Amino acid sequence: MTVMAALLMLCCIAALQLVAAAGLADSRRVHWFSLVCCLGLIVVYSLVRSGYSQRWEDPALTFLQIIASVTCTAVAYVIAGSARGITLPILAVILIFGVFGLSPRQMLFVLSYGVTVFAVALTVVQWSPGHGDQPLALSIAYMVMIAVVLVSCTFINLRVLAARKRKIELIQAAANERERAIRDELTGLHNRRFMLEMLHLEGVRVQRNQQPLLVAQLDLDNFKNINDTHGHAAGDLVLTAFAQTVSACIRSTDMLARWGGEEFVLLMGNTTADNGAGLLERLRAAVQAAVVFLPSGASIRVTVSIGAAQLQPGQETPLGLLGRADAALYAAKAQGRNRVAWADEAVPNGAVATI
Ligand code: GH3
Ligand code: MG
Ligand code: MG
Repeated sequence: MTVMAALLMLCCIAALQLVAAAGLADSRRVHWFSLVCCLGLIVVYSLVRSGYSQRWEDPALTFLQIIASVTCTAVAYVIAGSARGITLPILAVILIFGVFGLSPRQMLFVLSYGVTVFAVALTVVQWSPGHGDQPLALSIAYMVMIAVVLVSCTFINLRVLAARKRKIELIQAAANERERAIRDELTGLHNRRFMLEMLHLEGVRVQRNQQPLLVAQLDLDNFKNINDTHGHAAGDLVLTAFAQTVSACIRSTDMLARWGGEEFVLLMGNTTADNGAGLLERLRAAVQAAVVFLPSGASIRVTVSIGAAQLQPGQETPLGLLGRADAALYAAKAQGRNRVAWADEAVPNGAVATI
C-alpha cells in the first residue's frame, strides 16, 4: 500500500513538473515542492519497510500519510498556477486510500482538516499577489468541488466501516451459534453432535496414520436414585461436578462429551488399551472419591461404570467401536457397577475381559 501510494504521489509530482516545464507554474517552487515530497516519501517508506512503524498504533501510517498528502495537494493548488485544476483528482485519489484505511473519527478529522487547508489555499490564490488573476467564480467552483470530494469520501468511509462492522458481527454470531450447537448447556462439555463429528474425523485420521484409538463410554451408577432422593436440581449438580472431575483427570488431547442424560463418551486419540487402562482406573477412583455438596448441606457420592474398547483398524467404523464400548459398559453394570470393563479383544495387561 505504501509503495502504491508513493507511486501515485510520484505521478502527481511528475504532472506538476510537466506543468512547470511548460511555463504554466513557477519552476523554483515546483522543484522545492517535489524535493520535500520525495523526502517525505522516503521517510515514510523507510519507517514502514524497516518495521519501525510496527510499534505504533497505525503501522501503515495511513492517517499520517493522508494528512501529509492533503497538505501537499493544497500547496500544489497554490503553486500549480493556471493548471491547479489537476489537484482535484489528486485529492480524490488520496481520499480513496482513506476510505478503506481510516476510522470514522480520523476520516471526519481529514474532512474538516481538508476543508480548512483548502480554504486557506484558495484564499492565498485569490487574494495574495503573484498567483495570477483567477476569477472568484472559479475559486468558488473549486471549493465546492473540493468539499464534494471530501464529503463523498467521508460518506463512503462511514458506509464501508458500517458494512465491515456488520460482517464482523455476523461472523461472531455464526461462531457463537456453532459453539452453542456443539456444547452441552448443563456441563459445558461438548455434546453428542460434536462427538459424532470427532469420531468420524478420528476414524479418517486413524486410517491414514495407523494410530491406535480408544473409546470409553461412561455411565453414572444408580443416578435415578439421586434424582428421586435429592431432586432433579441436585442431579444436575452431580452431573456438573462429574464433568469437572473427569475433565481434571484426562489429557488435553482427550475429548469428553456428554452423550445424553447421565452418559458420557471419552475419546482418546493415539492411545492403546494398555496406555488408557491406568487413566480410566484413575478416573473411576477420582469419581468415587469426589464429594458433591448440595445447597441443603447434604453431600452426595457417586460412582461410574466404564466400558472401553480399542479400534480394530480396517475391521470396524468408529461407530462400531462405540457400540463395543457400550456393550462393555453393560457388562460393567451387570458385574456390579463402579468398574472398568473392556471389550474382549482389547484387554490391557493386568485387566480382565468382561464380555
Ligand atoms: P444405572 O446404574 O443402571 O445406570 O442406573 P441409573 O439410575 O443411573 O440409570 P437410569 O437409566 O435408570 O436413570 C438415568 C436417570 O438420569 C433418569 C433420568 O431422569 C436422569 N437424567 C437424565 N438426564 C438428566 C439431567 O439432565 N438431569 C438430571 N438431574 N437427571 C437426568
Ligand atoms: Mg446410569
Ligand atoms: Mg444411562
